[in-house]
Amino acid sequence: MNIVNKEQVRQTHRVRLPLQEPLGRISCPRCGNYTHFVEQAESVMVMTAYMQNTDGSFTPMEQSYDTEGDLSFLCGECGNDLTPFHAHFREMVF
Ligand SMILES: [Zn+2]
Repeated sequence: MNIVNKEQVRQTHRVRLPLQEPLGRISCPRCGNYTHFVEQAESVMVMTAYMQNTDGSFTPMEQSYDTEGDLSFLCGECGNDLTPFHAHFREMVF
């Protein structure tokens, strides 16, 4: 029993969490914002598929984005760089 408890304690200490952050939620350490965030790509290639209509006009059908280079993760309120949280953010996008 004691061995199991010690193991649990050790694992609790090993979990890496940003200081002052509730489990699983990101907030901006500068302004405290926890609702609005921005992902910024160095460069983005936008592709839009169009269909030409019988009258010669075009209707956009589908748009896709290819990002290149590093992605930054920023606070949507004050622009503070939160890129260290980016991997977590990506995992939590549904
Ligand atoms: Zn902020």
